[in-house]
Parts: sequence; structure tokens; C-alpha cells
Amino acid sequence: MTDLLIYDTMSQLKKIFTPIDPKKIGIYVCGITVYDYCHVGHARTAIAFDVIVRYIKHKYGADNVIFVRNITDIDDKIINRAIENKESVSDLTTRFITAMHEDFKALGLIAPDHEPRATEYMPQMLEMTRRLVATNYAYQAMNGDVYYKVRAFEKYGWLAKRKLEDLSVGARVELNEAKLDPLDFVLWKQAKAGEPCWDSLWGKGRPGWHLECAAMSTDILGHTFDIHGGGFDLIFPHHENEIAEAEACTGKTFVNYWMHVGFLQINQEKMAKSANNFVTIRDALRQVDPEELRFFVLSGHYRSQLDYSLDQVKLARASLERLYTALHGVTIDPNTVAAKDTAFEKNFLAAMDDDFNTPGALAVLFELAREINTGKQDKSAKVGALCRLLLDLGAILGLLYRDPALVLGVTKLDAVDSKVQDLIKARDAARLAKNWAEADRIRDELKALGVTLEDTANGGVQVKRV
Ligand SMILES: [Zn+2]
Repeated sequence: MTDLLIYDTMSQLKKIFTPIDPKKIGIYVCGITVYDYCHVGHARTAIAFDVIVRYIKHKYGADNVIFVRNITDIDDKIINRAIENKESVSDLTTRFITAMHEDFKALGLIAPDHEPRATEYMPQMLEMTRRLVATNYAYQAMNGDVYYKVRAFEKYGWLAKRKLEDLSVGARVELNEAKLDPLDFVLWKQAKAGEPCWDSLWGKGRPGWHLECAAMSTDILGHTFDIHGGGFDLIFPHHENEIAEAEACTGKTFVNYWMHVGFLQINQEKMAKSANNFVTIRDALRQVDPEELRFFVLSGHYRSQLDYSLDQVKLARASLERLYTALHGVTIDPNTVAAKDTAFEKNFLAAMDDDFNTPGALAVLFELAREINTGKQDKSAKVGALCRLLLDLGAILGLLYRDPALVLGVTKLDAVDSKVQDLIKARDAARLAKNWAEADRIRDELKALGVTLEDTANGGVQVKRV
């Protein structure tokens, strides 16, 4: 097997990926705090990790990867929003968990193997807190909150490359806090009236955010696991604090490879509700196809900053159409196997092995499309096998799953009403997510509208009016 290189934020190096157990590769990605709709920044991180997980599954075998993505369903932001909305915390989180699942399905993301929720892991979090207090890494302050004693953990700041002296400059204890050192962070908060709370050795309360990921990841994947990731903004303090908690508890290295996805800007500005440039995933998908959004995300390296704008996504649309143009009009026999041992495949895999270099991998798909176009002109017998290869490599990135004729508008989609178009898109997304039951259900719904879909040999669909 060729080496897979992964850039590790801790060592600041591209390191050869050596799984602890190649049959049980553990990947934990920090998920969503469910108090509002997911935005396109979330989509960027989710799509980036979707492709990382797809590639590791492709390389090591789908059954040999355990992918965990948590849901933060208790947190200050959630409690405050529930109060604002005059609804219960559980009504709010249930609503936005459903919305998140809808959005992620529409994006064609593969489902995680585990999707732990913070509220389901109280015993594990309380046990961690107990141990940290017992070993003097944590203490209960005068106001009843339990804090982690940052200066007790020698390696604090190693991930973010920050020194304690620098961190303490300007840091101060707020009036409503009781911690002994401004650097200390909360593990367990005393409950305020009306807030959801759990019993503990330190009175009724609820966990601090950083505690949940340390507790859930080690509970599911073990004390040391392969890959932990999230957005770039989680390096400090979230992941730094997770390391302090987990390693002080277990005495072992918490994570072997730390991966972080770059920021997504909107029209060259930081996305913020106050800047009025907040784009939710559902807003975006009203204007662009999920595959176009995915292509746009993959057109930049996952660690680089990406600038979202409608113009940029339209560029992605034009690029995708070039790939679909190569596939269009080629009837691929179901028995056709992909062209073997080509430079295209080798270069595609080499790009992906180089820290998931998706722009490099996409460039290879365009070279392959050019070869197919030339082959079509020359009526070469190899065209079918090359198209199959293009589809197979595209599938590793979660791309090229639609019918070329539909994408290129050749089947006169304008003659099909918008409800039918929406259903076809929803079915595509369901198929991409391997949710066959949902895909079949939508097919039946379309049938009732007088539209039949026939799956074609190249993985696309043909639309027919009956
Ligand atoms: Zn986390």
C-alpha cells in the first residue's frame, strides 16, 4: 500500500499515516451545537471530512473505519436561545437535530458510525471530572463550579503553540467567576434555576463544552485513537482543553493526528450574523446543487481558506459540466470494468495520498475527461473503460453521481416542473448517502406524478414521462 501523508497540527508536519489498528481506524470529528440552522461554514468542514473519511475507507476498507461525529445538545448558546424562543431546551435541540440531519443528507454526507450526544454521556463526563479532582488537576471553586487547573498540565498550549505566559497576559477572572487562575476552564457548572441539570458529586449542574468531546471520543474509540478533527477555530481552546482533560485522566497520548479545516469566508468577509452575510445550508441549496457546493469545497485544499460567493460556486458548476460532457452520450456496458493501472488513477491516488490534495485530484479528473473526449472523436474502444474510471474516481470524492443528460439539461428539464426537479435532486442525495429506502420512496412518489426514473449503467438516471 502506498503511504498516506496527513498534516498533523500538533507536530506541524505531514506525517505518514500509521493506524493503531488498520482494521479499526478511529476518526472523531467535532460536530454541531444544535441551536440554529447549519451554515455554509459547517458545510465546508463537513464535506471536507466526508471526503477524508471516504478516502480512508477507500484505502483501508469501508468496514475498517469507525467515524464518530458528536452533537452538542447542551450548552450556554442552546440554553440562551431556548429562553429567547420561550421553548424548552429539548424542543429546540430536537428541532435543530432534525434540520441538521436534513441538511447533511441533502449534501450527500455519509452518516457517521456513531453520533453521540452530550446529554447521553453524563456518567462518563462525571467520572472524568471525578478523576481530575482526585488527582489535583481540577478543583471545586467557591461558587460550586468545577475548574480544570491549566497550570497543572505540563503540555498545555502545545497544540496551539501558545505559551502560558502569553496566554495569561490580559487574562482576568470575570466578576461572576470564582476560578483561582484566569487560565482555568470550567468542567462542571452549577445549575441555575430552570436550566437542565444532572446530579453530581458537586451538586446539580451541567458539563462544560470541552469535557463532552474528551469523554465521548475516548469512550467510543479508546484512550488513544488515530484522527481527531474539526474546524481551524477549534484548535484553541477546545482541542487544547480536550487534550488537557483526556491525557491527565489516562496518562496516554490522546490523539495521533490532529486535522483542522480552514475558514470559509463569504464574499471575502468573515461570516457573522451581525455582518448580515450568514448563509445557511438550506439557503445555499436553493441556489446551487449540492454537487456544485461539494465541487466548490473540494476545489480548495481542506487546510486553506476558501471564499464562498455565488460566482465561485457557478465556476464549480461550469467545471462539473465539463466532466459530465465527457460522460454524456457514452453507453457504458454494465460489465465494463474501469481502465486499469492508468497514469490517471495513479496520479489521482498520489494527490489524495498527499494530505488529501483534492485540487490535485480534480485536475486529474479533467485530464481524464480530455482523454475521453479525444477517444470519443476517434471512436476508441477504450472510452467505456475510461468513463467507468472517471465515475469510480469521482465516487471517491462523492461526485459524478447524476445523469449527465440531466445535468447538461439535454432531457429538457424545463419541461419538467420544479416539484419533480426537487424530488429528483432529493433522490440523488439519498442515493449518494446510500439511503436506498428513501431513494425508493421518492421514486414511488415521482411515479405517482407520472414520472419514471430509470437507473442507467453509468450510475445516472434517465427521466421519462408516462
Ligand atoms: Zn469537540
